[in-house]
Amino acid sequence: MRQSKLFGKTIKEAAKDEISLNARLLNRGGFVEKLMSGVYSYLPLGLRVLDKIKNIVREEMNATGAMEVLMPTLQPKELWDETGRWEGMKDVMFQFKGRGDSDIGLGCTHEEVITDLVRKRIFSYKELPVSLYQIQDKFRNEPRAKSGLLRGREFWMKDMYSFHTTESDFEKYYDEVKLSYLQLFKRCGLDAKIVEASGGIFTEKFSHEFQVFCETGEDTIHYCRECDFAQNIEICEENVGDKCPKCGGEVFESKGIEVGNIFPLETKYSGAMNACFTDKNGERKPMIMGCYGLGPSRIMGTIVEVSHDDKGIIWPKEVAPFAVHLVALGNDEKVFSSADQLYDKLVSAGMEVLYDDREESAGIKLGDSDLLGIPMRIVISNRTLEKNSAEIKMRAEENAELVELDKLLETIKE
Ligand code: ATP
Ligand code: MG
Repeated sequence: MRQSKLFGKTIKEAAKDEISLNARLLNRGGFVEKLMSGVYSYLPLGLRVLDKIKNIVREEMNATGAMEVLMPTLQPKELWDETGRWEGMKDVMFQFKGRGDSDIGLGCTHEEVITDLVRKRIFSYKELPVSLYQIQDKFRNEPRAKSGLLRGREFWMKDMYSFHTTESDFEKYYDEVKLSYLQLFKRCGLDAKIVEASGGIFTEKFSHEFQVFCETGEDTIHYCRECDFAQNIEICEENVGDKCPKCGGEVFESKGIEVGNIFPLETKYSGAMNACFTDKNGERKPMIMGCYGLGPSRIMGTIVEVSHDDKGIIWPKEVAPFAVHLVALGNDEKVFSSADQLYDKLVSAGMEVLYDDREESAGIKLGDSDLLGIPMRIVISNRTLEKNSAEIKMRAEENAELVELDKLLETIKE
């Protein structure tokens, strides 16, 4: 992509009402634009990042044997009355009147809709287990939506629901999803820790959160550095400095951003909504359910919160909008024609390249390159061309290296 044609130029100052670091950098870089509190447009660069995150999520969920579906955002009150959650959701769910006085809500979570879908389609133990997920924008009337992509009122969620005949089959799958979550966060460049938490509005039981330790996080976690003990303080009985209840080590505290949350639902929804299967003996039983949420847009914001420096964003490889930022410095014919050639060569080799072909000063171009945070920068200038070379620099590293143009492709591929 030629940067001269890119919609969404960088800007010097973030919009005044953006206070969070992720929103400020993403806004300056031309990744997102706020429409109103907690509601964002994704510009071409931002959409590329979001889509990459969604695709990683998709790959990892598919690898657990789950299947992707897409459920409606408009949901009828009657369905929510079956579980008695319509009233309790009033603060969170956008609820309004449709035609003919019908009550409608915008999807803030989909337990009711998926349970309805499954009870209409699955009847026998032979059809279980099944795990279904969707990647969809969700709506929640959040009271504090000042953290950029970390807390949207319209935001992206991957929500997955699994249905099982036995508790042990459920547990096996639940543990598998835990591992796949850790794997997908790692691919997104995030080090997420599994933290025990309450079940919130979903279940009376506990849940497991995936927390990325970060000072700007809203959650507080007590954890042990010697073992895997970690609890959200909303349920933790240990204080900082206490003995770890698991290994006798010490309890520490950290702020965290909740990037994912998974819940054993048992038969809460299947029982209330009569989502039953017939077992081997012909007996009807409610399905045992789990649900597994994570937020692609919050993940995007979290990556920026933990991976940046004073110059801008540092995208991890797998989620970066482009792999290479090719920058032509010097604004003369020779430089542009060499850079054009290199651009064509890289693109033909299947690389994702953003090519800064603008007539701007070196200062502006290099500054923008740091702000955008593409993992590899390749600079072509009169100075590099004197040596028939280009300069390669990784965004996350200090050192730059001159590489001969002939050897560039091999070098990059390493
Ligand atoms: P929080 O406690 O932060 O409000 P939650 O526990 O209500 O989140 P869940 O219902 O567990 O969130 O949603 C699953 C996932 O969806 C979360 O782990 C998070 O990654 C994402 N998510 C939830 N609410 C938001 C939001 N308002 N904006 C962006 N992402 C969100
Ligand atoms: Mg949660």
